[in-house]
Amino acid sequence: MNILVLNCGSSSLKFQLIATDLERIERRADQRLAYGMIDRIGGAAILNFAVEGQKPEKSAAPIRNISAALDAVIKWIASQSIEGVKNLGDIDAVGHRVVHGGEYFAQSVLIDDDVLQTIEDCIELAPLHNPANIRGIQAVREIFGKTLPQAAVFDTAFHQTLPPKAFLYAIPYQLYRRHKIRRYGFHGTSHRYVAYQYRTVNNIPRENVNIITLHLGNGSSIAAIRGGNTIDTSMGLTPLEGLVMGTRSGDLDPAILEFVGAKEGLTIHETEMMLNKQSGLLGISGLTNDMRELLAEAEESDDRRARLAIEIFCYRVGKYIGSYLAAMNGTDAIIFAGGIGENSSKIRALICENLGWLGVRLDEGRNDECVGGREGVISADDSRLKIWVIPTNEELLIARDTVRLIHGLI
Ligand code: ADP
Repeated sequence: MNILVLNCGSSSLKFQLIATDLERIERRADQRLAYGMIDRIGGAAILNFAVEGQKPEKSAAPIRNISAALDAVIKWIASQSIEGVKNLGDIDAVGHRVVHGGEYFAQSVLIDDDVLQTIEDCIELAPLHNPANIRGIQAVREIFGKTLPQAAVFDTAFHQTLPPKAFLYAIPYQLYRRHKIRRYGFHGTSHRYVAYQYRTVNNIPRENVNIITLHLGNGSSIAAIRGGNTIDTSMGLTPLEGLVMGTRSGDLDPAILEFVGAKEGLTIHETEMMLNKQSGLLGISGLTNDMRELLAEAEESDDRRARLAIEIFCYRVGKYIGSYLAAMNGTDAIIFAGGIGENSSKIRALICENLGWLGVRLDEGRNDECVGGREGVISADDSRLKIWVIPTNEELLIARDTVRLIHGLI
C-alpha cells in the first residue's frame, strides 16, 4: 500500500509517501518513496520536494491555504516517476499527525465524522495546532473524496497511560473536572517509536521495556517508560512545560507571567508568546535557537551566553533524568533521539557527565560515531546503564498505524 503521511501546521505542510503493508511491517521493509515540505503557506510559499534517492527540488509559488498546498503535493507526486504511483488512485490511504487528542484518544483511529468532531472538540486544548490538522483532513476529503481511508495519529495518545499522580497539577481539582486541565504530554509518536525500536532490536517483550527516552529537537521532551507504558513525561497541558527548548522556556514559576506583564507592560497573551517564541536557547543566548550554531559560537568565539544556554539546557535534562529515575525506580537504558539527540555527541557527553554518580560511562568513539541517523549503543561496556541513540521516525509509525487500522488490528 502507498500511504501519504501528512503533518499540517498553521503555515506549513510536511509529507512523506511511504510504501508499506502488513508483510513489509513484519520484515521491516517499509520504503519511503518521496518526501517534502511547503513552508510559508498563506503567502509566497517555499516548496521543497524530493523523490527518495534523488536531489531535492526547491521552488517558490503563491499558495493560499492547506488545500492548495495539498493540491501542489499531489500534482507533484503524479508528475514524478515513482514506482507504483502513477496517479491519485495509487495512494491507498492518508495518515495524519494530529497534535491533541485530549483524553478521548489513547491510540490511533480511522477518521469518520465523529472522530473529526472530537478532534474539533480538542481545539481549545491546542488552538494553534488542531485547526491546521483538521484543515488537512478536510483537504484530503475534497481532493480524494470521503471514501479514502484517513487515520489520525495523536501526539498525546501514547501518554494516556500516565497515572493521575503524574498527570494532575496540584491546583483545585474542579479545574480538571470542569476544563480537563491536566498534563497531556506531546511527542508521543516519537517516544513510542523509539520504545518500539528499542524492544525490536533488543528482542524483548513490550512489558519489559523500562527506559527513559529523550526527544531533543527544537521542541524537547523526556518520557519515563515503565513496562512499555509512559508513566511520566515533561510536557504538560501544552508543549511549553518541561525542558529548555529552542524558543520555549520550559518549566518556570507561574508567578512570572503577571510579574513580567506588569514590569514590561505586556498582556498575559503577549507574555505567553514570549515564553513560547523568544525564550529557551534563543532567549538565554540572545543569538539563536539552533543548537548547532550555539555550539559553534561557544567553541569558536567562547561566547559566554551561548555557553550558558547550552549549560542550562543540559542541566535541565540531567535534573529530569534524575527525577525520572526516582519515578521509575530505576531504568535499563537512556535513549537519545531528535535533531539534537541524534546529531550532537557533544551535548550527549555534557548530559551524561552529570550521570557519573549513577555509573554511567560513555564510550567516546561510539558516541562520536552515532550521528546523522545512525543507531547504536554509545555507553562503555562497563557502564551501569546502557545509553543509546535511536533516530526517531514518527512518519513511519503513522504509516504503519494507518495500515494496521485499515486491517482492523488497532
Ligand atoms: P523539531 O523539534 O522541530 O522536530 P528537530 O528534531 O528536527 O526539531 O531538531 C532540530 C534541531 O536539532 C535544530 O534546531 C538544531 O539545533 C539541532 N541539530 C541538528 N543537527 C545538529 C548537530 N549536528 N549538532 C547540534 N544540534 C543539531
